[in-house]
Amino acid sequence: MDALSPKKQPIALYPGTFDPVTLGHLDIIRRGARIFDHLIIAVAENPGKSPLFSSEERASMIRHEISRLENPTKSRIEVIIYNSLLMDCVESQGASVILRGLRAVADFEYEYQMAGMNQQINNKIETIFLMADSVLQPVASRLVKEIAFYNGNITPFVPPHVAQKLQEAVTRKKSFQD
Ligand code: ADP
Repeated sequence: MDALSPKKQPIALYPGTFDPVTLGHLDIIRRGARIFDHLIIAVAENPGKSPLFSSEERASMIRHEISRLENPTKSRIEVIIYNSLLMDCVESQGASVILRGLRAVADFEYEYQMAGMNQQINNKIETIFLMADSVLQPVASRLVKEIAFYNGNITPFVPPHVAQKLQEAVTRKKSFQD
């Protein structure tokens, strides 16, 4: 490459199920937007995971939290929904970086395997990991849903708007079970 030509800023894509978005995810989003000029949060439909919230609801909760951030961080972030192979989504969005969060040992094996397979599909796309914040390390959507289901306190793990949506969803789910 010509040493004098300006380097193009990569577009990063942060994929996930976000069922629902937690303070851990939001920390990765905030930090990611400090590094990349354009960060696309890609909400996976992921029907295989039987999410509690629809992809539209999950995206809408993320958009709500993004709207509360300040500029320029806010203006750098976009939220989309995808229902395809991740690498196809990355390419169609013109991204060259996949951003993922890494929580201690729990995530490592799965993330390592996924990054390796994605690299074999397209080696021009790099996966970059941000280490989870030490305080938010234990936060996982699955556990938050479980705590909410048993009426536990979820306020240390999700923003208030998400906590409210979770309580509504849990009440709905319980009423179906009665
Ligand atoms: P997926 O189904 O793709 O694993 P998740 O919504 O569970 O979707 O997670 C999306 C990404 O966010 C993953 O890289 C995961 O490791 C990361 N993540 C989840 N919770 C946290 C957290 N508390 N701190 C940092 N990263 C997290």
